[in-house]
Amino acid sequence: MPYTFQVGSTRCHILTDGQHPADGGGFFGVVPRLLWQRVIKPNADNLIPSDTRSLLIESDAGLILVDTGNGDKLSVKERQRLHFTGRTDRLVGELRKLGYAPTDIDIVVLTHLHGDHVGGATRWATPDHTPGPLIATFPKARYLCQRLDLAEASFPNERTAATFHAHNWEPLLANGQLQVVDGPQRIAKNVRTEIAPGHTAALQMVWVEDGEENLLFLGDACNWAVQMNRLAWVPAFDIFPLTSIETKRRIRQEALERNTLLVFQHDAQVVTGRLVEGERGPQVQPEIVE
Ligand SMILES: [Zn+2]
Repeated sequence: MPYTFQVGSTRCHILTDGQHPADGGGFFGVVPRLLWQRVIKPNADNLIPSDTRSLLIESDAGLILVDTGNGDKLSVKERQRLHFTGRTDRLVGELRKLGYAPTDIDIVVLTHLHGDHVGGATRWATPDHTPGPLIATFPKARYLCQRLDLAEASFPNERTAATFHAHNWEPLLANGQLQVVDGPQRIAKNVRTEIAPGHTAALQMVWVEDGEENLLFLGDACNWAVQMNRLAWVPAFDIFPLTSIETKRRIRQEALERNTLLVFQHDAQVVTGRLVEGERGPQVQPEIVE
C-alpha cells in the first residue's frame, strides 16, 4: 500500500514498483561484506532485497511522478531474475490504489536513465505486455530528464551500457513528450529539482518545500540510509565515486540543518527518515520502516 503524508499543505505519496533481489556488492562497492551485512543480511547468493520507490506529488502544477521503476518490458528471463514473474503493472497498480490512472499524471521527473528508474516510462502497447509497438505509460505527461544524463545514456561505454535501454526513452523523444533540461528546475510552486552528480553525471533529486517543512527524494544520490552516515560506503554503481562522496556530504549538511524528511528509493528497510547527530557524525533516524 502506498504511504501518504503531507509536507506542509502538499500531499505526497510514496509508491513502489516492487522489491527485487540485487547483488549486495553492487550497493556497497568495495566495503567488505563483514561490515555491511550488519545492516542488511545477504542470502547465500550474496543478494539483498532492493526496493524501487517512486514519489507522487499533488502540486499546483498537477500530479508529479518521480521515477517509474523497472516497468513491464523486461524479458521473461529478466523478470525471473527480479522475481517479477506474473506480476505486471506494479507501479500503475499502486497509482490505482490511490484512485489515479496513468492518464492523470501531468509531469514525470526522471532522476536519471538507469533501467530501474525509467523502465516504466514506456510500455508495450499490447495489453498483456508482450513485445510490440511502444507507447508512453503516462500518455498526457511531460517527462523531464537531464541533457548530460541523456548524452551518457545515448553513448554508453562498456562499463555503463548494461542498464541503458533506449526503448525506455526514445519513443518519448520521438513524440515530443521528453523535455531535455539542463541543470536544476522549478517544477511547481513547492517542487524543484537539484543536481547531485556522482551516481551519474547529472542525477536530479527532487525537493518538496512547503512552509517550514521540506522533503528530499534522493534518488540514487544515497541508496541506503546507512550511506548518509558512512560516506565511504559508495555503491559500485556510482560512476564518479569520489564526487558522490562530496555530493552526499553537502546534502547531509543541508538536510541536517533543515530537518529534511529524506526518502530512500532502494533501501529495503528504511523508507523515510531525518538526520540527527550521532557518534560517527550525522545519521538517519528512520520514520517509515518496512
Ligand atoms: Zn537505482
